[in-house]
Amino acid sequence: LQTQSVNTVPHTVTKYHGPSGRLSHETQLYINGEWINSQTQDWIDLHNPATQELVTRVPQATSAELAEAARSSELAFKTWKKTSILSRQRILLDLQARIRQEMDPIARSIVEEQGKTFTDAKGDVLRGLQVVEAACGIPDLLLGNTLPVSKDMDTYTIREPLGVTAGIAPFNFPAMIPLWMFPLALACGNTHILKPSERDPGAAVMLAKLAEEVGVPKGVLNIVHGGKPTVDFLCDEPSIKSISFVGSDTVGKYIHDRGSQNGKRVQANLGAKNHGVFLPDANKQHSLDQVTGAAFGAAGQRCMALSTMILVGESKEWLPDLVERAKKLKVTGGMEKGADLGPVISPEAKARVEELIQSGVDEGATLLLDGRNPKVDGKYQKGNFIGPTILTGVKPSMRCYREEIFGPVLVCLEVETLDEALAIINKNRYGNGTAIFTRSGAAARKFQEEVDVGQVGINVPIPVPLPMFSFTGSRGSIQGDINFYGRSGVSFFTQYKTITALWRHEDVSDAEFMHMPTMK
Ligand code: NAD
Repeated sequence: LQTQSVNTVPHTVTKYHGPSGRLSHETQLYINGEWINSQTQDWIDLHNPATQELVTRVPQATSAELAEAARSSELAFKTWKKTSILSRQRILLDLQARIRQEMDPIARSIVEEQGKTFTDAKGDVLRGLQVVEAACGIPDLLLGNTLPVSKDMDTYTIREPLGVTAGIAPFNFPAMIPLWMFPLALACGNTHILKPSERDPGAAVMLAKLAEEVGVPKGVLNIVHGGKPTVDFLCDEPSIKSISFVGSDTVGKYIHDRGSQNGKRVQANLGAKNHGVFLPDANKQHSLDQVTGAAFGAAGQRCMALSTMILVGESKEWLPDLVERAKKLKVTGGMEKGADLGPVISPEAKARVEELIQSGVDEGATLLLDGRNPKVDGKYQKGNFIGPTILTGVKPSMRCYREEIFGPVLVCLEVETLDEALAIINKNRYGNGTAIFTRSGAAARKFQEEVDVGQVGINVPIPVPLPMFSFTGSRGSIQGDINFYGRSGVSFFTQYKTITALWRHEDVSDAEFMHMPTMK
């Protein structure tokens, strides 16, 4: 294995001076094993959300470039599907080793393009890496079933790859979510065309370089860039058999419908509004620490952020302590020492979050902690920063409750009973994650049984399952019915073929050959 750092691999060919006067580069496409400068006239500038410095510009790939990606993926599938399972496993083992070695450079790229803190960015890579590690068990995961069904007759199933698969990723986990997609697709014998978010494609580019380095053959993994035109291509291109999407509601529904109408298998994870229920018997320090991290960490830009707090009975008296904790969080650039949360992704996202905070105030909520216009170090004055914000007295009818805010804003509702809390959660349109904090096993069991949400934490604020399980958001947080990673992920990336075989020792005549075979 070569162990050249991805940082030193020359993937940044065309240099130019951005508005900040700093040398920058164009993000390249990776098509048929080549790193390509797009011929497009249509570029998307990518700014560091903490400083507004231009980091790179991302191409809206041309139709010809996209067609070439699909052509090469289709061609590569012919040989990749026949590559032995142990060879594919070997490549994945090497890939996971290289990702582990390159975690810091990948995390630095995430901080620069996405804004989250360095520690959080390493968590982003690590949670994706765990999926690659699990995919290394692919020989076991692909085992089929077999049964001798009659005299001299066996039926057995084989899990076969689909062909060319595609992935469309969001901005908030630029390493983890691409790693939910292409490694398992490849392990199952598919080829893959990945479109990272145009807002932070750097981590995916670095991961593709590692894949190239460890021997993923040309065309087996392609990286294309862009916005809607690229997405429409992936939804319409006949050679693409499946689409994996993670992102917002409107886009997810659109992709699910358009892809499905074109006969593709689509898995789509959408938005969320995750509620944490705090019973008064809970361990107070633990609960408050956990909600502080889960509501404000990553500036609230996690689909599993615990963005809604339901305080049951006397636990509402904990609010002043919560405010004290939130006030202490350090809002600054993600590489700064002690940074707790960085900026949100764009000035537009910042304006939207601020507007939702104001809507809460206008609709009668109390702004217990206002994070608008936080104090940040001089060099970050232009960044998209919002500090931790807490709204209390929130009602389910308010916009700040109904909409996914996707910023460091915690909305708090107060109720008297667990039943009331359950009713609120089950009425919410989303079903991604939820958590209960309590010392009562009976209350936790009741919550687990009665809550209609796909991922439940008991004294655990962000219950994202490890990859021996699957990511199982439900209701409005998902379209399609096959989950990401784990056994469900293998089901998504494969289709069964079932063979019934008869091998007779002697040549005998079958008296009932004209009837429906009953295989008795
Ligand atoms: P987004 O929907 O804006 O973008 C996701 C992808 O869709 C990107 O690759 C983007 O290029 C593409 N896209 C954007 N606009 C499009 C359009 N009009 N037509 C076609 N394609 C388009 O999402 P985002 O803002 O990048 O990500 C944040 C959202 O993702 C949040 O809602 C969050 O909850 C959700 N999310 C969900 C999960 C989950 O597992 N449920 C995980 C992470 C993020």
